[in-house]
Amino acid sequence: METIGSNGTLDAAIPPGPLTEKWTQFKSRAPLINPANKRKFSVIVVGSGLAGGAAAATLSELGYQVKCFCYQDSPRRAHSIAAQGGINAAKNYQNDGDSVWRLFYDTVKGGDFRSREANVYRLAEVSANIIDQCVAQGVPFAREYGGLLANRSFGGAQVSRTFYAAGQTGQQLLIGCYQALEKEIQKGGVTMYPRTEMLDLVLVDGHAKGIVVRDLQTGEVSSHAADCVILATGGYGNVFYLSTNAMGCNVMAAYRAHKRGAFFANPCYTQIHPTCIPVSGDYQSKLTLMSESLRNDGRIWVPKSPETAEKIRKGELSGNDVPEDERDYYLERKYPSFGNLAPRDISSRSAKEVCDEGCGVSSTGLGVFLDFRDSIERLGEDAIRARYGNLFQMYEKITGSNPYKNPMMIYPAVHYTMGGLWVDYNLMSNVPGLHVLGEANFSDHGANRLGASALMQGLADGYFVIPATLPVYLSKETPGTVTTDAPEFRAAEEEVKNRIDQLIAIGGNRPVDHIHRELGLLVWDKCGMARSEEGLKEALEKIPAIREEFWNNVRIPGRASGMNMELEKAGRVADFIDFAELMCHDALDRAESCGGHFRVEHQYTGEDPEVQSGHTGEGEAKRRDDEFCYVSAWEYTGPGERPALQKEPLEYENVELSVRSYK
Ligand SMILES: Cc1cc2nc3c(=O)[nH]c(=O)nc-3n(C[C@H](O)[C@H](O)[C@H](O)COP(=O)(O)OP(=O)(O)OC[C@H]3O[C@@H](n4cnc5c(N)ncnc54)[C@H](O)[C@@H]3O)c2cc1C
Repeated sequence: METIGSNGTLDAAIPPGPLTEKWTQFKSRAPLINPANKRKFSVIVVGSGLAGGAAAATLSELGYQVKCFCYQDSPRRAHSIAAQGGINAAKNYQNDGDSVWRLFYDTVKGGDFRSREANVYRLAEVSANIIDQCVAQGVPFAREYGGLLANRSFGGAQVSRTFYAAGQTGQQLLIGCYQALEKEIQKGGVTMYPRTEMLDLVLVDGHAKGIVVRDLQTGEVSSHAADCVILATGGYGNVFYLSTNAMGCNVMAAYRAHKRGAFFANPCYTQIHPTCIPVSGDYQSKLTLMSESLRNDGRIWVPKSPETAEKIRKGELSGNDVPEDERDYYLERKYPSFGNLAPRDISSRSAKEVCDEGCGVSSTGLGVFLDFRDSIERLGEDAIRARYGNLFQMYEKITGSNPYKNPMMIYPAVHYTMGGLWVDYNLMSNVPGLHVLGEANFSDHGANRLGASALMQGLADGYFVIPATLPVYLSKETPGTVTTDAPEFRAAEEEVKNRIDQLIAIGGNRPVDHIHRELGLLVWDKCGMARSEEGLKEALEKIPAIREEFWNNVRIPGRASGMNMELEKAGRVADFIDFAELMCHDALDRAESCGGHFRVEHQYTGEDPEVQSGHTGEGEAKRRDDEFCYVSAWEYTGPGERPALQKEPLEYENVELSVRSYK
């Protein structure tokens, strides 16, 4: 494999030179493709969320012929539309000490020192361009009274660098991106294929040269060839069944590429978001996020005494009845410098801890308060409504409780996946020609993503990075050499059709969702907020039985031809089952705690000097840099086989590895 260096480790193709100049120097020296030749190259982009939509529009504007695919009926419905709170950028409009370096540092530290320095620095540099680009597109970011763009704070930062459009930033950014895409569709540069699902990647002579898709309306299976393939297919949080992700989010495109040879990096790094509406019952299929931006003005607390908490759980007391001195604002107590804006991994674990101690306040015991009483007193209800009105309305609609009057109840839930297909600095996977953008790749966020950084990364990848890095691959290729007549396409199509026929033929008794839920509960329990060697081994024993049950007893009504949503779901869940195994292997291998990956065997205790010196606290995540300072990149080795681990060592030349503290 080209990307494996002579020392047996992965080569990330990081350009030489000082960190602060790598991207500039790269752009000055990178190969270019002249305008006449660009028109000869074709590019497949799978995904039209912020990452894929931005890439498709920009590459088409540059002159490439683009084919863009999504499974929704319109690019406007990509999951990116759900993003609420905002997008980070190192503009320092607030004059509060922000800089590219600080955004870079916060991101590396927030990711618990498990991300690649060069990529993160580039992301911080490009962040400022994204805001200019989006403003030029007409994205209605919130503004101060005087007309300047407004900012708020997100977790893991002590500056205000988050640009936002009320609680619907993703929607507004996606409208901007969609307009750019529509313009190119109209012009003929992009051919859009909505309601079309990629079911396989096609390799010709080891290079990614096409995909096999199913038309979700007619059921027709067909192939598309191009000079390269870009996946921007989003995250896989729905492996847990319950998550804040859109119901359609899945791992299929990335997993099928993995089966064709693409390495899957850090699959166990999942972000559990601290502020979601708690689970309310067994028949729930979706969880709802309450944006992290609410932590700017909401204070998180539980009663100090488990007895008081129990009365609240039983409905004998309400949060408002608890006097000030009987409240434990545990984040402010434990992390005075960051308080309620401690990063997500830390805030989520703290919520679990207080609930495990019996202080949870929702009827299930798994809930804490997010209280706006003090800020409403300080700023007035109107100011709070202007900042978060749509979020408050959504909360009241779902729970029936008015958050202007009563504290919200929240609990951590699966939200984002830092893992994804391994990519180098050029965003190319180890499979030549296969590039991966946005949440679908592993890059930039290490073991924990900071809030408002996913939109930043997706748009950086799509608008600014891939247009500059794609020529590194394409300049060595002759355009149009591969067509769907190649035998590899016939073979891949055959495999896809056989799999569909196999699914339809099962004719079992259990609905797809039923098996998905069983898988999700297991993965949440054993590979969720806390993981242990014992639990992970248990999950690895149980997953094959779930797979067996699926392939023998799943019930998929209807036919393969025409629209069949159960069939669509079944294909995705089949991949989730295999993928869950990969996650557990990764989590088991990583015998340390870092970011969203908390191994109960590896936490600080009172014996540790870092705790005795007051730098960190008991129960905090304990990294083991000497053994685990690497990106794990897993290679598919065959059905049911243990995947093979490749490593990309992480070298920190500009940032000192340290115990993460937000005290
Ligand atoms: C509720 C919520 C709120 C959030 N708020 C914020 C926030 O405030 N700030 C922030 O920075 N981040 C936020 N995030 C995270 C952020 O929204 C996502 O990480 C980001 O939008 C992902 O963008 P993407 O383009 O990578 O993928 P997506 O938007 O998920 O797009 C994936 C695309 O791939 C297509 N696709 C997938 N598989 C296939 C296939 N097999 N065949 C064809 N097409 C396929 C889909 O149709 C879609 O077009 C939030 C996430 C959630 C769940």
